[in-house]
Amino acid sequence: MLTNPNGADAPDGRCDPVAVTRASFGRTRAIHRREFLLAAGLVVAAPSGRLLAGQAGSYDLVIKGGRVIDPAAGLDAIRDVAIARGRIAAVAVDISSGGPNVIDARGKLVVPGLLDVHTHAGRSADGPRAILRDGVTGWIDAGSQGADRVADIVAVARSAPQPGRVLINIGRAGILPAGDTLDVANADAAAAREAIGRHRDLIVGVKARLSDTVAGSNDYEVLRRAQDAATAFGLPVMIHMGQSLSPLPKLLPLLKRGDIVTHMFAPPPSSIIDENGRLLPAVLDARRRGVWFDVGNGVNGHVRWDIVDLVMKQKFWPDTISTDWNTTSPTTGVVDLPNCLSKLLNYGMSVPQVIACATANASRVFPVFKDRGTLTVGAQADVAVLELRDGAFEFEDNYKGRITGRQRLFPFATVLGGVPVPRFS
Ligand SMILES: [Zn+2]
Repeated sequence: MLTNPNGADAPDGRCDPVAVTRASFGRTRAIHRREFLLAAGLVVAAPSGRLLAGQAGSYDLVIKGGRVIDPAAGLDAIRDVAIARGRIAAVAVDISSGGPNVIDARGKLVVPGLLDVHTHAGRSADGPRAILRDGVTGWIDAGSQGADRVADIVAVARSAPQPGRVLINIGRAGILPAGDTLDVANADAAAAREAIGRHRDLIVGVKARLSDTVAGSNDYEVLRRAQDAATAFGLPVMIHMGQSLSPLPKLLPLLKRGDIVTHMFAPPPSSIIDENGRLLPAVLDARRRGVWFDVGNGVNGHVRWDIVDLVMKQKFWPDTISTDWNTTSPTTGVVDLPNCLSKLLNYGMSVPQVIACATANASRVFPVFKDRGTLTVGAQADVAVLELRDGAFEFEDNYKGRITGRQRLFPFATVLGGVPVPRFS
């Protein structure tokens, strides 16, 4: 089923994201929605407690006959999904559309709109619309800019069709080819705080890039300053790990509950595993404390298949799977988020489990997504329709390593707020 073996390492259950989501979090949210919708008169409760449409034929859109995978609800079955007034109105067998708007999803997967917690979609005005066609109905720009020019990213987020939010780079000049914070003066917590204050509605955290070529020997101090800026607003820090001069056991104790480690499959130096391939105790401890671990696929230095294999064999699965997307991604090994999800199918995760990493789990990381990542009745009607194709598919890591997988997910259609997104607009 949907059990994540990470739970074995987490007595508090915190690190069994799928099971936690299904057993408590998702159910609690569903009940709230049901109460809300009943109060709003949008749906009526049948005597059995099941929800029915308030008026026959009142749906705006019906997605028919797909395999509906909603990890938050523990659902994996052939169902129709009916949408009315921008919300999920019903999920049931054989819903009559009562109207002309039907998506034929037979043979396809119907999943909650995908949430990508590490992108650089804010660097291009066209970025958000491009990933919307991949099924991504919510995104985070992870540190493309610092205090000096974060307004550029905020402007893209503000005009995006789907919810987009911004992590401010603690390096005030953003991503620099010569290294964001090799000059430690660039890690300017006061400037970051001032910028967050100016864009409090759209900046949702702080990014600290800690690789040798980015922060050099300043990595620890850069992270300390990132926390200084973030905690003033109660926000998380996302660290870009891998190839840092300081080993992770020195850096991880600076992370608090809700912070995010991205590029979790980065090879040494400063990987999450030791020289014998065993997970570091400090990494297990961080997860127990409530730190999230994210894939952050990218193209350079972040993913190597032998590291993925070693980590996954120890059942240390990602909480979230993200792309590290930018405008060149369609022609690199990233391609799109469905492709990045497909890679983990080769390392023991099931289709519902990888879907959970970009829906239910991602919705827990940033509050902007808290009512998304599910298809429960009353939820925002953001839906990704995907094709799961069988065949021989090549997947490339960041070191020209190639593996061949037997399945790959492809985007087929996206629905945002109940409205189908034109595929090639
Ligand atoms: Zn990135």
